[in-house]
Amino acid sequence: MKIPFVDLKAQYLNIKHEIDSAIAKVIDETAFIGGHFVKDFETKFAERYGAKNVIACGNGTDSLYILMKMLGIGKGDEVITPANSWISSAETITQAGAKPVFVDVHPYYFSMDETQIENKVTEKTKAIIAVHLQGQMCAIEKIKSICDKHHLHLIEDCAQSHFSEYDNKRAGLFGVAASFSFYPGKNLGAYGDAGCIITNDDALADKCRMYARHGALIKHQHEMEGINSRMDGMQAAILSAKLPHILEWTEMRVYNASLYEKYLSGMDEVILPHVRENTVHTYHLYVVRAQKRDELMQYLKSRGIETVIHYPRALPNLPAYHYLEHTPGDFPVATRLQNEILSLPMYPEMTEDMIRYVAGAIKEFAAKNSPKTFHAGTAQ
Ligand SMILES: *Cc1c(COP(=O)(O)O)cnc(C)c1O
Repeated sequence: MKIPFVDLKAQYLNIKHEIDSAIAKVIDETAFIGGHFVKDFETKFAERYGAKNVIACGNGTDSLYILMKMLGIGKGDEVITPANSWISSAETITQAGAKPVFVDVHPYYFSMDETQIENKVTEKTKAIIAVHLQGQMCAIEKIKSICDKHHLHLIEDCAQSHFSEYDNKRAGLFGVAASFSFYPGKNLGAYGDAGCIITNDDALADKCRMYARHGALIKHQHEMEGINSRMDGMQAAILSAKLPHILEWTEMRVYNASLYEKYLSGMDEVILPHVRENTVHTYHLYVVRAQKRDELMQYLKSRGIETVIHYPRALPNLPAYHYLEHTPGDFPVATRLQNEILSLPMYPEMTEDMIRYVAGAIKEFAAKNSPKTFHAGTAQ
């Protein structure tokens, strides 16, 4: 059996009519940039998500950058961010002119280890970027209380956690603002690049909107210099067509995760994802840990199963951050995880047969490799 890591075509075929007519409408109205399709999506996403303001922009990376600029973060400032994430949650700090300060991650939940944050707070710290990785929220309440205590901005990176919850409250509604990515493979994905900012702060919303539109809310009235970060009409129309399905797709992801658990539990060779209490994990990724990760990946490939590593190197270990002069020992958990984590195929349209096939292949690999008991380790 061939099992791709994600199958965007399967989703398209299920809603082909809705997508095709959305695209046709945009072309018919030649509403390619700006216009009502973008406004409509902003309104619908705000309603469905429960956010006061939604600012559509070009991609998720821009939304983080715009937020930091408009919160006044810049030269001489420090921003705390996790050691394991996609590079956007670090590079945008540098782009804003500030310095990224990495914090090691939790061995079970893969997100920022909240117990290590306060050690990194200095007089220069201005904000924390709380990344909700893989669809699971980080320890947001503790991180929020650290932000309140030290007067720091709490920015949530929700690129991987659309509609995830912590204590019945959605990701992105805890901090001053949050960024979302609608990259095609994300849980809510466009057919190209797109992203947005959500915030309940009206003044911040206006500033972000202005900055993303060349510093002008009204055409030709440039109050400042900004950037060009727009969602195009086609992407907005596609996202509006997909939005009514998102909760159902999320449930299917959660169900598929339960099937992986059913077919993989009790194995010593792999550690399955741990879910925090009182949370809804939306499984953007289904990440297991394996001692012989590279061999397992190769074996699954030979059985037609595509897997991915998110991410093969912790951020502080990348050449881009050599200038910070960290050693792998500074981030022992993130450094260990980079060699053990493996993202299994995960998308709503996967069938039980497919999941059973993946689990079966992992079991075959384990049987051949005389597994030793593998411990997840503890925090700190
Ligand atoms: C995808 C992603 C981003 C960036 O989104 P783009 O739309 O690709 O710019 C930022 N942070 C995290 C954690 C992501 O996974």
